[in-house]
Formats: sequence, structure tokens, C-alpha cells
Amino acid sequence: MKKIGILTSGGDAPGMNAAIRAITKSAMHYGIQTVGIRDGFEGLMKGRFINMKYTDVDNIIQRGGTLLGSARCIEFKDKEARKSAVQNVKDAGIEGLIVIGGDGSFRGAHVLAQEVNIPVIGLPGTIDNDLYGTEATIGYDTALNTIVSAIDNIRDTASSHKRVFFVEVMGRNSGFLALNSAIASGAESVLIPETITDIKALAEQLRTQNKGRRSSIVIVAEGDEEGGAMDIMRKIQPHLEDFRLRTTILGHIQRGGSPSYFDRALATRSGVMAVELLMKGISNKMVGIKADELITVDLKDAIEKHAIPNLEKEDILKKLLTK
Ligand code: ADP
Repeated sequence: MKKIGILTSGGDAPGMNAAIRAITKSAMHYGIQTVGIRDGFEGLMKGRFINMKYTDVDNIIQRGGTLLGSARCIEFKDKEARKSAVQNVKDAGIEGLIVIGGDGSFRGAHVLAQEVNIPVIGLPGTIDNDLYGTEATIGYDTALNTIVSAIDNIRDTASSHKRVFFVEVMGRNSGFLALNSAIASGAESVLIPETITDIKALAEQLRTQNKGRRSSIVIVAEGDEEGGAMDIMRKIQPHLEDFRLRTTILGHIQRGGSPSYFDRALATRSGVMAVELLMKGISNKMVGIKADELITVDLKDAIEKHAIPNLEKEDILKKLLTK
């Protein structure tokens, strides 16, 4: 193998740069040229390729985002439209592909690999942690830390003014960020898409737990079936007329920032492994982590199955409430 392609796709996540660095440097170590593909599948279709040099990836391990850029590219789902990508990969002499992204990106990588007939490896890059088969995705740990420190700030205000705050965190289909940030920030309650939200019961809980308390914080995953934080606040207000309710939507601050130790180390180890898997001719695998060991997961499983958080953790919050 002489040349491999690498792209980042879907939502950006802290640690993507650390993965790009590890892939480029380890490939070079083994005498392989890395071709950086700009803006995900869009760049693949338009032939936006860069021959990566050692200096391109110097000093990026600590940076959030992705230096290659990312994009959502709906056209890539169309076989006819993908023909230009297939041709570009062949023309560039790319013999293997590493895709860093979520399950949508893996779907794209999987079909492309079949059409060009080259091996493909996926690295899970998403703050949502919703990929099947791995305990952690690249970017998740950093996003959790960002969320927890934002909630710490909100708590200062909430307790000074005796308010109930509904804090919305990312997770359109997944409660990983909400559930785990709720535990670590000392939130009183959490609403996630994986479990049924009972507005009346939540109101009752907030009313009883609030006796003598100065503040309550409820973490809301954006994809909760009752809606985001604003919807929840509107629905609960009639049951809590004498309470002062507020919402905060954390939004895109959750995505950015310098990656944590964990994400840098995960991205670096996974990047090196991805190069080595391609060198062995292994294809259609995602690199994951379990009990600090790197593992491979069938890309098909990562695409078709969905990870759910450990729902027993919700009980921990309940066990911390005083009646
Ligand atoms: P994520 O990778 O974070 O799940 P998306 O679901 O937006 O993000 O997918 C990222 C990109 O992957 C899409 O914009 C598209 O270019 C490509 N993609 C997603 N699904 C498919 C599919 N079924 N076939 C081909 N490409 C796909």
C-alpha cells in the first residue's frame, strides 16, 4: 500500500485533528503517503485533495474541529452522483480509505469502498457517543467536560436567584451526553429520548425536592420525545406556577474546544491502528475501545445497530434526592 485517503465527515468533534495527525504521521512512518480529502464526501466528489506533509499536522493535536473540514453532502447518497468520487479516488491512486465520523459517514464509506473496490476503516468521531460497539467515541469526553463546566456556571446563577433551570444539551437520538453530564454536574433530573418523560411526575418531583433548596437543574437531551428545553418549560409551567423557570440551550459550544487527554489519546491510538489495519488488507471495520483496549467492530454493526446509555444510571439521580 502506497497511498491512503482520509476524510472527516458529519458533525465535527474534538480529537478529529489528533486522529488526522496520528494517521498522517504513522502512515509516513510506514512509507505510505496520506491524501487529505477536504470537506468530507463533498471534497471527494469535487477532487479537493491534498498530499499531507509532516508539517501539515504539526501542532494540531490540541486543536478542536477538523483541519480538513467537514460537510454534510446529501448528493453522496445518490449512486450516479457518486461516480465522480469513484473516479477521483481511482485517479489519485488511493488504495485505502479512513473515514472519521458517525454512522451516516460510515454508510457513505461502505458504499464507496464497494464501488471503488478498496478497503475502508472507520474511526468513530462524534460527540454523541451513540455508535454501537465502542465504549467511547472521539470527542465525547471533551463535550461532556464542556457541558459539565457550563452547568457549573449555570448553577451559580440558579442558586443565587432561586430558579429552576432546564438546560438543553445535544443528542437528537441519544441521551449519553445528557445522562452522564447530569450525574457529574449534580443535576436533579434528566430527560432523555431512551426513556418516557412524565411531565406531571417531574413537576411533582421539582416541587417536593425544592423545599428548602435554592435551585434545581434539569438536563434535557434535545431529542427528548417531549421536546427540547423550551418545550419542556412550557409544558411544565402550568404545574409549577409559583416557580421561576428558565432555559439555557448550550448549542454549539458543546462541539468545540481543545480535546481532553482522553480524546487525544483515543484518537491517536485509533489513528495508528486504522493505518495498520489497512496495511494488513483488513476492511469494513470500525476501531473502538473497550476497557482501555482497542477493538475492531464490523462497520455493518456500527451502521445498523444503535448504542444506548446504561439506563440504570438514571436511578443514581433518584437515589440522591431527599424526600
Ligand atoms: P454522521 O456521520 O455524524 O452520522 P450524517 O448522518 O450527516 O452524519 O452523514 C454524514 C454524511 O455521510 C452525509 O452528509 C452523506 O454525505 C454521507 N452519507 C450518509 N448516509 C449515506 C448513505 N446512505 N449513502 C451514502 N452516503 C451517506
